[in-house]
Amino acid sequence: MANWSLLGYAGPEPPERVAAARQAAGRTEHIFQMLNSSITADTSLDFDAVVIGSGCGGAVAAAELACAGHRVLVLEKGKYFSLSEMSGVEGEALDQLYERGGLVSTEDTGLAVLAGGTFGGGSAINWACCLRTPDYVRQEWATEHGLKRFATDEFGDALDAVCKRINVTSTGISHNRNNELFIDGCQKAGYEVEDAPQNMADVSPGAPGAGFICAGDRYEIKQSMTVTFLRDAAAARVPAQFADRCKVSEVTHSKGVATGVRATIIGSDGQPHQLTIRARVVVVACGSINSPALLLRSRLPNKNGLIGKNLRLHPVSIVTAKVPAGAPDVVSWEGAPMTAVSNECARGPFGDNYGCKLECPSIHAGLGATGVAGLSKPGKHFKQEVLNLRRLTSIIVLVRDKDSGEVRLDKNGEPRLYYNLSEHDQASMLDGLEKAIRIAAASGVEAVGTTQTALGALRTLPPMSMVEARAAAVDGLVADVRRVGFPLYSVTLISAHQMGTCKMGSSAQTSVVNADGQNWEVSGLFVSDASVFPTSSGSNPMLTTLGIAHMVAQQIKRQLQPSSRL
Ligand SMILES: Cc1cc2nc3c(=O)[nH]c(=O)nc-3n(C[C@H](O)[C@H](O)[C@H](O)COP(=O)(O)OP(=O)(O)OC[C@H]3O[C@@H](n4cnc5c(N)ncnc54)[C@H](O)[C@@H]3O)c2cc1C
Repeated sequence: MANWSLLGYAGPEPPERVAAARQAAGRTEHIFQMLNSSITADTSLDFDAVVIGSGCGGAVAAAELACAGHRVLVLEKGKYFSLSEMSGVEGEALDQLYERGGLVSTEDTGLAVLAGGTFGGGSAINWACCLRTPDYVRQEWATEHGLKRFATDEFGDALDAVCKRINVTSTGISHNRNNELFIDGCQKAGYEVEDAPQNMADVSPGAPGAGFICAGDRYEIKQSMTVTFLRDAAAARVPAQFADRCKVSEVTHSKGVATGVRATIIGSDGQPHQLTIRARVVVVACGSINSPALLLRSRLPNKNGLIGKNLRLHPVSIVTAKVPAGAPDVVSWEGAPMTAVSNECARGPFGDNYGCKLECPSIHAGLGATGVAGLSKPGKHFKQEVLNLRRLTSIIVLVRDKDSGEVRLDKNGEPRLYYNLSEHDQASMLDGLEKAIRIAAASGVEAVGTTQTALGALRTLPPMSMVEARAAAVDGLVADVRRVGFPLYSVTLISAHQMGTCKMGSSAQTSVVNADGQNWEVSGLFVSDASVFPTSSGSNPMLTTLGIAHMVAQQIKRQLQPSSRL
């Protein structure tokens, strides 16, 4: 923090200013009451449905079931933070709100993996970019995976319903400087670009808090799960109950029927206690890293061995560029981060719709400085370059991975991720990096580079007036990017989208859950999160997750007998 002012980084606003902004916008915080306060010993409880995980998939399931009159308990392993308990400081947010403090990676450490790990799951820290499942993905899931629902109005209506609830809009969206440069560069390069709808209460320029939605949304500007579906669940006629710091270790089942869960909960005495829940329906919504881990720990027959397989990560690489001195600063932490998207290379180099999307990331001082470290020599050069943080603009290349990895359990029963970037997906990534470099160059930047360490610092380009020399320099950089490729440990790759590890399908031989989201081997056990995606969604997965959860919840409601209604 001591160096923030040197970097021109203002940091988060003080709590009074945040509270005033919230009040001016007429937003009232809902304080969730946690079951933990009544727990002082090992405890057993009965519910109609227990939902494990309070993220995107779990929140929709909880709201739908509670609003239908069922007795619902939501168990979340992360901590619930009220708004005043969050600081908005990037490092603290990583530590408190992200899965394992933001330190997850694939087993070979070749790819950093970010996921939500707090009440609200990924929705608490994500970037509010709301893209519907592309039609070609819906068709693929319907035809190649036998899941006809995805090509019908049933899924379309589910998407409409969740979009309405989280206030998805593209009307009147304002773009920060990073997105403006991206749009301008796309247009000048002749590439397709469009607005990315947002689930924000305020999309106007300078909307308070829009730049800080990645660090715990103290302004409640983002219509995340704590503001929408979890609140609906809490407000139901039979209010759902919630517990945080409650890690489910196992789903219990007998003779092929789910009976409940076993968990460890931190009680009001600050001590861990065993919590045993009996429930007629168990909804697993722990996300694509932890849902397969939970099922594997629960000793399901897993006859086809597919639990944990089919891990898709939407691997991301970044192109960073510096605007000329004297041009308006970029200040990429100001304003909503991801408001535009280019599908220019979505079809991919092989024309199979496994290409990539180009978007703008949220970059605050910590992440920005880390990026600069990879683009500069250690010591003095790094110090010089990091002082240019306000001038840096970034584009992410987000690959729809065709090939997959796997989640396995380690000896402690914790998930480990195994994943390699396949040749197919490397080709998509290279295609995207080339386009992103050309977009940045077209927008008039002074220097541009990738996270391939072999290429070193940002490469300075001749000025825009030297058209041919500049074009040759860009071509040279693109050629170098393609030549270097992605040797392990020589490029920064990131995933914020985990999918597919409890795959949905039309046959017990080829999938983990059926089209209703129900496990083939244990009835009453449903999975309702991004882990059921048959393949990668090719779009940022929040809306697809919410839509599937909405659809699965209708099936669960049908299964729960009327006798359970109060
Ligand atoms: C930095 C970042 C930015 C993103 N930006 C966007 C975006 O702009 N647009 C978009 O569409 N998507 C975005 N995403 C992705 C999106 O947030 C996720 O795809 C989505 O949250 C997945 O939903 P889920 O239900 O599968 O899991 P999650 O939302 O991650 O929820 C899973 C929850 O289960 C809890 N849990 C896990 N194991 C247990 C257990 N054993 N017991 C109890 N609880 C458990 C976890 O703590 C977590 O809270 C982003 C993700 C990240 C990390």
